Amino acid sequence: MAEFDVIVIGGGPGGYVCAIRCAQLGLKTACVEGRGALGGTCLNVGCIPSKALLHATHELHEMHENFDKMGLTNAKVKVDWAKMQSYKQDVIDGNTKGIEFLFKKNKVTYLQGWGSIPAAGQVKVGDEVHSAKNIVIATGSEAASLPGIEIDEQTVVTSTGALSLPKIPKSMVVIGAGVIGLELGSVYKRLGADVTVVEYLDAITPGMDAEVAKGLQKILTKQGLNFVLGAAVSGVEKSKSKNTVKYTLRKDDSAHEIEAEVVLVATGRKPFTGGLGLEALGVEMLPRGQVKTNDHWATSVPGLYAIGDAIVGPMLAHKAEDEGMAVAEVIAGKHGHVNYDVIPGVIYTTPEVASVGKTEEVLKQEGRAYRVGKFSFMGNGRAKAVFQADGFVKLLADATTDRILGCHIIGPGAGDLIHEVCVAMEFGASAQDLALTCHAHPTYSEAVREAALACGDGAIHA
Ligand SMILES: Cc1cc2nc3c(=O)[nH]c(=O)nc-3n(C[C@H](O)[C@H](O)[C@H](O)COP(=O)(O)OP(=O)(O)OC[C@H]3O[C@@H](n4cnc5c(N)ncnc54)[C@H](O)[C@@H]3O)c2cc1C
Repeated sequence: MAEFDVIVIGGGPGGYVCAIRCAQLGLKTACVEGRGALGGTCLNVGCIPSKALLHATHELHEMHENFDKMGLTNAKVKVDWAKMQSYKQDVIDGNTKGIEFLFKKNKVTYLQGWGSIPAAGQVKVGDEVHSAKNIVIATGSEAASLPGIEIDEQTVVTSTGALSLPKIPKSMVVIGAGVIGLELGSVYKRLGADVTVVEYLDAITPGMDAEVAKGLQKILTKQGLNFVLGAAVSGVEKSKSKNTVKYTLRKDDSAHEIEAEVVLVATGRKPFTGGLGLEALGVEMLPRGQVKTNDHWATSVPGLYAIGDAIVGPMLAHKAEDEGMAVAEVIAGKHGHVNYDVIPGVIYTTPEVASVGKTEEVLKQEGRAYRVGKFSFMGNGRAKAVFQADGFVKLLADATTDRILGCHIIGPGAGDLIHEVCVAMEFGASAQDLALTCHAHPTYSEAVREAALACGDGAIHA
């Protein structure tokens, strides 16, 4: 029996980051991973492979839409799906191997296999039982489906199957207009599939700033995606050659159906804690399956912590990473901290969408007085030069103090632009602080500054 200060169960962004930080803080640490590769959902079947396919197909989109306009005429490429898949796999392998290297460098013991917790302070992997003063559950999440839908990962798939389809389908129905559905729907649309997104709510990207959601829907519609909103899917009927998605429109209860070669079920994810033995240990759980934790990520069992997708909060890799670092600090007797008010969210469509802080809808609900500074990318020279002037930056600031309360961006590089606002918010900055900061020209980030100027005396290029 090996003895550790910390055993982390799960090698995803929450778990592997936690393990590395624990080791850096001088704790004897092991990380257990059952899938045969480190990096979790994110690196193996999530963030990274989806971004590889988004990148490849974005280039294709650029060729179709913009090459000719720039004098790059007669450009033609053939899509080699098998090669695109192996590019995606190389990206995954490079990243997962990178974490193995970091484990060696930081002296984290990598225990390969599925872990369980037979008793407090013990972790069983295969036939071996290891002891640990502290155990961190970082077992992540799995795709959730709907009643009446049988996933086969062949033609009725979750995001995992959608990342590795044997061929590009002629048609696809995406159930759920959240981040994953829109990203993968975009991939297959750009590859030539006829894509229809069916969503229960009356707007796409639930929880996002309404104006941004509307703008994104308009742009994606222009790119050829079809949307059916306010539609409750009741099931998918499979036949040899096609799948039929049945749904009812909520506004008039009328029944409809739509056929597709492939159906992607992108209706969210649920925590994955099966097989750990949490029930026998008496670990308190929340009604939606998450492990219940306090402000220091401690569960109801002493010495047992939980982080990432397995607990409450946005299911995002960077949220899991931050919790991984913070809980490591707590275990090491330091002050781990995560600012849940400043966690950015990004959708990697073209254009990208990014947001942080409160939306206008939430500020209205809270009855808060705020100012809006909005700036269109139409006024940004760099965006115009590269045909990416669709979209805007919307900065929200407190009407009295000018303190930044939120920012919502749809436009080129939004996923990177959002971070200057995150840093500003961490430092309690005002919109004027951003407006007074010199921004290099010509960059997309000038649009953020202009939005900040628009919170005050006015943007220059509007
Ligand atoms: C298609 C897709 C795209 C996404 N894109 C993004 C994105 O762009 N940005 C973003 O921030 N987030 C994205 N996400 C979400 C992101 O992947 C998750 O939020 C993140 O991976 C959560 O990290 P985690 O460490 O909590 O769990 P996970 O990454 O799920 O890792 C948990 C690991 O624990 C292992 N495990 C589970 N139980 C055991 C056990 N008993 N023993 C041993 N090992 C075990 C699992 O095999 C898994 O590898 C995406 C998700 C999907 C599905």
